[in-house]
Amino acid sequence: MKHINNIVVLTGAGISAESGIPVFRSETGLWENHRVEDVCTPEGYERDPEMVRKFYDGMRVNLKKVRPNPAHQALARLEKEWRGGYTLVTQNIDNLHEQAGSEHAIHMHGELLKLRCYELKGGCGELAVTTEPQDPEMACPRCGKKVFRPHIVFFGEMPVGMDEIQKALSAADLFISIGTSGVVYPAAGFVRAARGAGAVTLEFNLEPSAVKGYFDAGVYGKAGTTLPEFVDRLLSEGDDYVSSLLSEA
Ligand code: NAD
Repeated sequence: MKHINNIVVLTGAGISAESGIPVFRSETGLWENHRVEDVCTPEGYERDPEMVRKFYDGMRVNLKKVRPNPAHQALARLEKEWRGGYTLVTQNIDNLHEQAGSEHAIHMHGELLKLRCYELKGGCGELAVTTEPQDPEMACPRCGKKVFRPHIVFFGEMPVGMDEIQKALSAADLFISIGTSGVVYPAAGFVRAARGAGAVTLEFNLEPSAVKGYFDAGVYGKAGTTLPEFVDRLLSEGDDYVSSLLSEA
């Protein structure tokens, strides 16, 4: 096993489940009782922008009530105390990593707390930060257009930060995936990229994910319980601890 210097972490909806944010149900295709095609595609937004706005408004306002759990806190600790490189990539649109103290999470699927001046409607791509329901009449401070939309990456759109993510994956020594089902691409393919770069790959989930075969080892259980212990031992024992997980697998 290579000496571990650079760590890349990928998180999904499962890390926020213990904070009370529902995961996406891939078996039913429903997200908070809505069809994904209606609330998470450019076509759905085109058909009914008001409904889509309200869907994300509800989740945005709910962020005032939710708090990070020990898994988010463990990652914030790892970011602060790890002596090597550390990159956190999240598929989540909530702000629980930031609430826990993580300073640089790449939100590859966008953020509930941001609106974007919609390029396809002639907007300029400017981002605006808000904790409130969206005012559809809000004018962009940069271009003056009134075409803000939720800053959510819909299916079929380019994720945010891919260059930075690819660079981190190609230099990864340890890749850790937490609470993601492994069905949404390109995130589900990151484990293969990290493996290709020679990284050790570990998954934390309730059960083996759809891409389990690409992981060297898995730790199954609630992330709020498994991750604090993992981070504690990784920080104190380093390579020896990761080797011990591999030999148990
Ligand atoms: P997913 O909902 O498809 O899968 C969640 C995974 O987490 C499952 O494999 C489940 O077994 C696991 N899980 C559930 N509770 C867990 C726990 N306590 N500890 C460890 N694992 C647990 O999530 P995904 O793979 O991230 O894909 C869903 C998409 O929907 C993403 O693109 C994301 O942007 C979006 N989404 C975001 C949020 C959020 O921001 N919190 C919530 C729902 C969906």
